[in-house]
Amino acid sequence: MGFLSGKYFLITGVSSKLSIAYGIAKAMYKQGAQLAFTYNKSKFKDRINSLAKEMGSNIVLQCDVSEDSSISNLFFELKQYFPKFDGFIHSIAFAPSDQLNGDYVNTVTREGFKITHDISSYSFVAMAKECREMLNPSSSLLTLSYLGSERAIPNYNVMGLAKASLEANVRYMANCMGPEGIRVNAISAGPIRTLASSGIKEFRKMLIYSKECSPIRRNVTIEEIGNCAAFLSSNLASGISGEVIHVDGGFSVSAMIHNQI
Ligand code: NAD
Repeated sequence: MGFLSGKYFLITGVSSKLSIAYGIAKAMYKQGAQLAFTYNKSKFKDRINSLAKEMGSNIVLQCDVSEDSSISNLFFELKQYFPKFDGFIHSIAFAPSDQLNGDYVNTVTREGFKITHDISSYSFVAMAKECREMLNPSSSLLTLSYLGSERAIPNYNVMGLAKASLEANVRYMANCMGPEGIRVNAISAGPIRTLASSGIKEFRKMLIYSKECSPIRRNVTIEEIGNCAAFLSSNLASGISGEVIHVDGGFSVSAMIHNQI
Protein backbone atom coordinates (compact mmCIF):
# COMPACT_ATOMS: atom_id res chain seq x y z
CA MET A 1 0.00 0.00 0.00
CA GLY A 2 1.45 3.35 -1.04
CA PHE A 3 0.44 6.75 0.30
CA LEU A 4 -1.63 7.42 -2.87
CA SER A 5 -3.56 4.12 -2.76
CA GLY A 6 -7.22 4.59 -3.63
CA LYS A 7 -6.60 7.96 -5.28
CA TYR A 8 -7.26 8.88 -8.93
CA PHE A 9 -5.23 11.49 -10.80
CA LEU A 10 -5.01 12.98 -14.28
CA ILE A 11 -1.47 13.48 -15.60
CA THR A 12 -0.87 16.01 -18.41
CA GLY A 13 2.38 16.78 -20.21
CA VAL A 14 3.95 13.38 -20.80
CA SER A 15 5.45 13.48 -24.28
CA SER A 16 8.43 11.14 -23.77
CA LYS A 17 10.36 9.26 -21.09
CA LEU A 18 12.36 12.45 -20.56
CA SER A 19 9.27 14.46 -19.59
CA ILE A 20 9.06 15.70 -16.02
CA ALA A 21 5.44 14.44 -16.04
CA TYR A 22 6.73 10.92 -16.80
CA GLY A 23 8.89 11.02 -13.63
CA ILE A 24 5.89 12.31 -11.69
CA ALA A 25 3.52 9.64 -13.06
CA LYS A 26 6.01 6.87 -12.20
CA ALA A 27 6.41 8.13 -8.63
CA MET A 28 2.64 8.46 -8.16
CA TYR A 29 2.02 5.00 -9.64
CA LYS A 30 4.63 3.56 -7.27
CA GLN A 31 2.63 5.03 -4.38
CA GLY A 32 -0.55 3.30 -5.57
CA ALA A 33 -2.31 6.07 -7.55
CA GLN A 34 -4.58 5.16 -10.46
CA LEU A 35 -3.73 7.38 -13.41
CA ALA A 36 -5.24 8.79 -16.57
CA PHE A 37 -3.10 10.59 -19.16
CA THR A 38 -3.49 13.25 -21.83
CA TYR A 39 -1.65 13.84 -25.09
CA ASN A 40 -1.68 17.04 -27.08
CA LYS A 41 -0.96 16.09 -30.68
CA SER A 42 -2.09 12.86 -32.37
CA LYS A 43 1.53 12.03 -33.30
CA PHE A 44 2.13 11.37 -29.58
CA LYS A 45 -0.91 9.11 -29.07
CA ASP A 46 0.76 5.70 -29.59
CA ARG A 47 3.75 6.62 -27.47
CA ILE A 48 1.60 7.86 -24.58
CA ASN A 49 -0.57 4.74 -24.86
CA SER A 50 2.46 2.54 -24.30
CA LEU A 51 3.86 4.72 -21.48
CA ALA A 52 0.43 4.66 -19.79
CA LYS A 53 0.38 0.84 -20.02
CA GLU A 54 3.66 0.72 -18.07
CA MET A 55 1.70 2.37 -15.26
CA GLY A 56 -1.31 0.08 -15.46
CA SER A 57 -3.49 2.63 -17.29
CA ASN A 58 -5.43 2.42 -20.52
CA ILE A 59 -6.96 5.89 -20.13
CA VAL A 60 -5.30 8.21 -22.65
CA LEU A 61 -7.30 11.25 -23.73
CA GLN A 62 -6.61 14.08 -26.17
CA CYS A 63 -6.41 17.68 -24.93
CA ASP A 64 -5.06 20.85 -26.47
CA VAL A 65 -5.26 23.44 -23.68
CA SER A 66 -5.37 26.33 -26.16
CA GLU A 67 -9.02 25.38 -26.89
CA ASP A 68 -11.78 25.65 -24.25
CA SER A 69 -13.79 22.99 -26.10
CA SER A 70 -10.85 20.56 -25.93
CA ILE A 71 -10.55 21.07 -22.15
CA SER A 72 -14.28 20.54 -21.58
CA ASN A 73 -14.26 17.48 -23.83
CA LEU A 74 -11.31 16.07 -21.85
CA PHE A 75 -13.25 16.16 -18.58
CA PHE A 76 -16.45 14.94 -20.25
CA GLU A 77 -14.50 11.86 -21.41
CA LEU A 78 -12.61 11.46 -18.13
CA LYS A 79 -15.95 11.32 -16.29
CA GLN A 80 -16.70 7.98 -17.99
CA TYR A 81 -13.68 6.49 -16.16
CA PHE A 82 -13.30 8.70 -13.07
CA PRO A 83 -16.71 10.24 -12.12
CA LYS A 84 -14.83 11.80 -9.19
CA PHE A 85 -11.08 12.15 -8.85
CA ASP A 86 -8.36 13.52 -6.58
CA GLY A 87 -6.55 16.06 -8.71
CA PHE A 88 -4.29 16.62 -11.66
CA ILE A 89 -0.71 17.39 -12.62
CA HIS A 90 -0.37 20.34 -14.99
CA SER A 91 3.00 19.89 -16.69
CA ILE A 92 2.43 22.05 -19.75
CA ALA A 93 4.25 25.06 -21.17
CA PHE A 94 4.79 26.54 -24.59
CA ALA A 95 6.36 29.62 -26.17
CA PRO A 96 7.05 30.23 -29.87
CA SER A 97 10.74 29.39 -30.41
CA ASP A 98 11.68 32.94 -31.48
CA GLN A 99 10.71 34.10 -27.96
CA LEU A 100 13.36 31.96 -26.25
CA ASN A 101 16.40 33.22 -28.08
CA GLY A 102 18.23 36.46 -27.33
CA ASP A 103 17.58 39.89 -25.86
CA TYR A 104 14.17 39.86 -24.09
CA VAL A 105 13.19 43.42 -24.97
CA ASN A 106 14.00 42.98 -28.65
CA THR A 107 12.44 39.52 -29.05
CA VAL A 108 9.17 39.77 -27.13
CA THR A 109 6.07 40.37 -29.28
CA ARG A 110 2.40 40.91 -28.44
CA GLU A 111 1.53 37.57 -30.07
CA GLY A 112 4.42 35.70 -28.36
CA PHE A 113 3.42 37.18 -25.00
CA LYS A 114 -0.22 36.14 -25.48
CA ILE A 115 0.46 32.57 -26.62
CA THR A 116 3.04 31.93 -23.88
CA HIS A 117 0.77 33.18 -21.09
CA ASP A 118 -2.28 31.41 -22.53
CA ILE A 119 -0.71 27.93 -22.78
CA SER A 120 1.68 28.14 -19.83
CA SER A 121 -0.41 29.93 -17.20
CA TYR A 122 -4.09 30.39 -18.09
CA SER A 123 -4.44 26.70 -18.94
CA PHE A 124 -3.87 25.74 -15.28
CA VAL A 125 -6.92 27.62 -13.99
CA ALA A 126 -8.87 26.76 -17.16
CA MET A 127 -8.50 23.07 -16.31
CA ALA A 128 -9.43 23.66 -12.65
CA LYS A 129 -12.53 25.62 -13.68
CA GLU A 130 -13.73 22.79 -15.90
CA CYS A 131 -13.24 19.90 -13.45
CA ARG A 132 -14.02 21.66 -10.15
CA GLU A 133 -17.28 19.74 -9.64
CA MET A 134 -15.52 16.39 -10.20
CA LEU A 135 -12.85 16.89 -7.52
CA ASN A 136 -13.06 15.00 -4.22
CA PRO A 137 -12.41 16.81 -0.94
CA SER A 138 -8.64 16.48 -0.18
CA SER A 139 -7.79 16.91 -3.87
CA SER A 140 -4.50 18.37 -5.04
CA LEU A 141 -3.70 20.43 -8.14
CA LEU A 142 -0.03 20.76 -9.00
CA THR A 143 1.85 22.67 -11.68
CA LEU A 144 5.50 23.03 -12.73
CA SER A 145 7.40 26.30 -12.59
CA TYR A 146 10.97 27.51 -12.94
CA LEU A 147 13.26 30.05 -11.27
CA GLY A 148 12.88 32.34 -14.31
CA SER A 149 9.68 33.55 -12.58
CA GLU A 150 11.74 35.14 -9.79
CA ARG A 151 15.03 36.04 -11.50
CA ALA A 152 15.96 37.30 -14.96
CA ILE A 153 17.56 34.37 -16.79
CA PRO A 154 19.13 34.72 -20.27
CA ASN A 155 16.92 33.44 -23.13
CA TYR A 156 14.11 32.30 -20.79
CA ASN A 157 12.53 35.68 -21.57
CA VAL A 158 8.72 35.83 -21.78
CA MET A 159 8.44 32.31 -20.31
CA GLY A 160 9.77 33.82 -17.05
CA LEU A 161 6.83 36.24 -17.02
CA ALA A 162 4.39 33.41 -17.74
CA LYS A 163 5.86 31.39 -14.85
CA ALA A 164 5.44 34.42 -12.54
CA SER A 165 1.80 34.54 -13.65
CA LEU A 166 1.47 30.78 -13.11
CA GLU A 167 2.81 31.10 -9.55
CA ALA A 168 0.31 33.91 -8.82
CA ASN A 169 -2.36 31.63 -10.31
CA VAL A 170 -1.36 28.99 -7.71
CA ARG A 171 -1.95 31.45 -4.85
CA TYR A 172 -5.31 32.73 -6.15
CA MET A 173 -6.57 29.23 -6.97
CA ALA A 174 -5.44 27.94 -3.55
CA ASN A 175 -7.36 30.73 -1.84
CA CYS A 176 -10.58 30.09 -3.81
CA MET A 177 -10.55 26.30 -3.71
CA GLY A 178 -9.20 25.75 -0.19
CA PRO A 179 -12.65 25.90 1.46
CA GLU A 180 -13.63 22.90 -0.74
CA GLY A 181 -10.63 20.94 0.56
CA ILE A 182 -8.65 21.44 -2.65
CA ARG A 183 -4.96 22.32 -2.33
CA VAL A 184 -3.01 24.02 -5.12
CA ASN A 185 0.79 24.09 -5.33
CA ALA A 186 3.72 24.37 -7.73
CA ILE A 187 7.12 22.73 -7.92
CA SER A 188 9.85 25.03 -9.19
CA ALA A 189 12.15 22.47 -10.78
CA GLY A 190 15.85 22.75 -11.61
CA PRO A 191 16.78 22.42 -15.29
CA ILE A 192 16.18 19.02 -16.93
CA ARG A 193 16.90 18.09 -20.56
CA THR A 194 13.45 17.57 -22.18
CA LEU A 195 11.70 18.41 -25.47
CA ALA A 196 10.41 21.71 -24.05
CA SER A 197 13.75 22.81 -22.57
CA SER A 198 15.63 22.02 -25.78
CA GLY A 199 13.80 25.01 -27.30
CA ILE A 200 15.63 27.42 -24.97
CA LYS A 201 18.81 28.81 -26.55
CA GLU A 202 21.98 27.64 -24.79
CA PHE A 203 20.02 25.38 -22.42
CA ARG A 204 23.14 23.21 -22.09
CA LYS A 205 24.92 26.12 -20.39
CA MET A 206 22.03 26.42 -17.91
CA LEU A 207 22.51 22.74 -17.03
CA ILE A 208 26.25 23.16 -16.49
CA TYR A 209 25.86 26.37 -14.44
CA SER A 210 23.16 24.85 -12.29
CA LYS A 211 25.24 21.73 -11.64
CA GLU A 212 28.32 23.71 -10.65
CA CYS A 213 26.54 26.27 -8.48
CA SER A 214 23.88 24.19 -6.70
CA PRO A 215 24.62 23.29 -3.08
CA ILE A 216 24.23 19.61 -4.03
CA ARG A 217 26.67 20.11 -7.01
CA ARG A 218 24.53 18.16 -9.49
CA ASN A 219 21.34 18.55 -11.44
CA VAL A 220 18.09 17.13 -10.09
CA THR A 221 16.33 14.19 -11.77
CA ILE A 222 12.75 13.63 -12.87
CA GLU A 223 12.57 10.91 -10.17
CA GLU A 224 13.34 13.52 -7.48
CA ILE A 225 10.74 15.91 -8.87
CA GLY A 226 8.32 12.95 -9.10
CA ASN A 227 8.79 12.04 -5.44
CA CYS A 228 8.04 15.59 -4.32
CA ALA A 229 4.99 15.71 -6.62
CA ALA A 230 3.69 12.41 -5.20
CA PHE A 231 4.08 13.79 -1.66
CA LEU A 232 2.35 17.09 -2.51
CA SER A 233 -0.52 15.19 -4.16
CA SER A 234 -1.06 13.06 -1.07
CA ASN A 235 -2.72 13.57 2.30
CA LEU A 236 0.79 13.73 3.81
CA ALA A 237 0.87 17.30 2.47
CA SER A 238 -2.59 18.19 3.80
CA GLY A 239 -1.28 21.39 5.42
CA ILE A 240 0.47 22.72 2.31
CA SER A 241 -1.34 24.96 -0.17
CA GLY A 242 -0.50 28.01 -2.28
CA GLU A 243 3.21 27.10 -2.15
CA VAL A 244 5.97 27.06 -4.73
CA ILE A 245 8.43 24.39 -3.59
CA HIS A 246 11.89 24.41 -5.16
CA VAL A 247 13.23 21.02 -6.22
CA ASP A 248 16.48 22.40 -7.60
CA GLY A 249 19.23 21.12 -5.31
CA GLY A 250 19.19 24.48 -3.52
CA PHE A 251 20.27 26.51 -6.58
CA SER A 252 17.69 29.22 -5.86
CA VAL A 253 19.09 29.96 -2.39
CA SER A 254 22.76 29.95 -3.31
CA ALA A 255 24.53 33.24 -4.10
CA MET A 256 28.14 32.07 -3.99
CA ILE A 257 29.64 28.60 -3.76
CA HIS A 258 32.63 27.67 -1.56
CA ASN A 259 35.19 27.13 -4.30
CA GLN A 260 34.50 30.66 -5.62
CA ILE A 261 35.89 32.34 -2.44
P1 NAD B 1 8.03 18.27 -22.12
O1 NAD B 1 8.27 18.79 -23.49
O2 NAD B 1 8.29 16.86 -21.86
O3 NAD B 1 6.56 18.63 -21.61
C1 NAD B 1 5.86 19.78 -22.05
C2 NAD B 1 4.47 19.32 -22.37
O4 NAD B 1 3.62 20.42 -22.68
C3 NAD B 1 4.43 18.37 -23.57
O5 NAD B 1 3.92 17.11 -23.18
C4 NAD B 1 3.48 19.05 -24.54
O6 NAD B 1 2.67 18.15 -25.26
C5 NAD B 1 2.66 19.91 -23.58
N1 NAD B 1 1.95 21.00 -24.28
C6 NAD B 1 2.48 22.04 -24.95
N2 NAD B 1 1.49 22.78 -25.51
C7 NAD B 1 0.32 22.17 -25.18
C8 NAD B 1 -1.05 22.42 -25.47
N3 NAD B 1 -1.42 23.46 -26.24
N4 NAD B 1 -1.99 21.58 -24.97
C9 NAD B 1 -1.64 20.52 -24.20
N5 NAD B 1 -0.36 20.21 -23.90
C10 NAD B 1 0.60 21.03 -24.39
O7 NAD B 1 8.96 19.20 -21.19
P2 NAD B 1 9.09 19.34 -19.60
O8 NAD B 1 10.39 20.02 -19.41
O9 NAD B 1 8.81 18.06 -18.94
O10 NAD B 1 7.97 20.42 -19.25
C11 NAD B 1 6.94 20.19 -18.31
C12 NAD B 1 6.76 21.42 -17.42
O11 NAD B 1 7.90 21.56 -16.57
C13 NAD B 1 6.61 22.73 -18.17
O12 NAD B 1 5.67 23.56 -17.50
C14 NAD B 1 8.00 23.33 -18.03
O13 NAD B 1 8.01 24.75 -18.16
C15 NAD B 1 8.31 22.91 -16.62
N6 NAD B 1 9.73 22.98 -16.22
C16 NAD B 1 10.68 22.40 -17.01
C17 NAD B 1 12.02 22.49 -16.63
C18 NAD B 1 13.10 21.88 -17.47
O14 NAD B 1 14.26 22.27 -17.33
N7 NAD B 1 12.79 20.91 -18.35
C19 NAD B 1 12.37 23.16 -15.44
C20 NAD B 1 11.36 23.73 -14.67
C21 NAD B 1 10.04 23.64 -15.07
